[in-house]
Amino acid sequence: MTTAKARAVDGPDKPFRVAEIKRRDLDLHDILIEIKYAGICHSDIHTAHGEWGAVNYPLVPGHEIAGVVTDVGAEVTKYKVGDRVGVGCMVDSCGKCDNCIKGEEQYCLKGNVPTYAGVDKYGEPTQGGYSTHIVVTEDFVVRIPDNIELDVAAPLLCAGITTYSPLNHWGAGPGKKVAVVGLGGLGHMAVKIAHAMGAEVTVLSQTLNKKEDGLQFGADNYYATSDSETFNKLAGTFDLIINTVSAKIDISAYLSLLTLDGTLVNVGAPAEPLAVNVFSLIGHRRSFAGSMIGGIRETQEMLEFCAKHNIAPNIEIISADQIDEAYERVLASDVKYRFVIDISTM
Ligand SMILES: [Zn+2]
Ligand SMILES: [Zn+2]
Repeated sequence: MTTAKARAVDGPDKPFRVAEIKRRDLDLHDILIEIKYAGICHSDIHTAHGEWGAVNYPLVPGHEIAGVVTDVGAEVTKYKVGDRVGVGCMVDSCGKCDNCIKGEEQYCLKGNVPTYAGVDKYGEPTQGGYSTHIVVTEDFVVRIPDNIELDVAAPLLCAGITTYSPLNHWGAGPGKKVAVVGLGGLGHMAVKIAHAMGAEVTVLSQTLNKKEDGLQFGADNYYATSDSETFNKLAGTFDLIINTVSAKIDISAYLSLLTLDGTLVNVGAPAEPLAVNVFSLIGHRRSFAGSMIGGIRETQEMLEFCAKHNIAPNIEIISADQIDEAYERVLASDVKYRFVIDISTM
């Protein structure tokens, strides 16, 4: 058993406090990771606040984890002590269902085991990356390429794969017009990745406040959605729209921006249902789809892609004492573009 220092919340409106959590003894295929950095994802906030259903508190969030292997189980073959590794949004799955066999463990038919606020195969609650150590089975650990620093690697494990997977699945590339709705933690990664894939990229943001950033991240065009002329001008334009906004928006208005056979993919997860005007779909054989993170193999592929194209998130490093403040700033959209906790301050 390893005792890890952590930051936990005890209820939906409680602040973070110093905590100690137990990490299990290493099973044959387990890896002990000393965490160096953990990103703050909007999902952490939704979960900590109990907005996505009942939570067993105390809760240690964090599913953008980058660190170094410090011990391995007796039959581990993929990693050794000293390796630079990452852990994303899930730490296990059944491994036997059709989706797991396809390498789409995030869609495990028995449900994947989330990195925090889940229950593992030993019946224990899972606790996430706002902590000094974590134990994960080797099949759910990815290797961080040498030319990606650990601090910027962390957000790739959720924000990176969440946007890479739908861009990859729906074929973003040369000759394709891709729009990204929202330029936050997810959106800024979507712009960088879609640009590197060779697509023509357009940002659709509420205002033009972050236009300069968007263009610097690789966007070719940038429009304000508060300007109704934007929707007239861009009607029928895009092959693919990635919606990263996790609030209620007029989805039918965005569907009207798709070309024939175009697809709008939601990766943001608003708590309320979105109303869809079906006429906006049938008129041009359009699709409205969703996508959730990516499989382990695809996550490794995303890391190699980012290494090859020198893609890194823009981050702001904070200490463990600043998590509450960071949450408030995320909720106020006051972050450029991802907070990352320096775990040495734990
Ligand atoms: Zn996340
Ligand atoms: Zn499965």
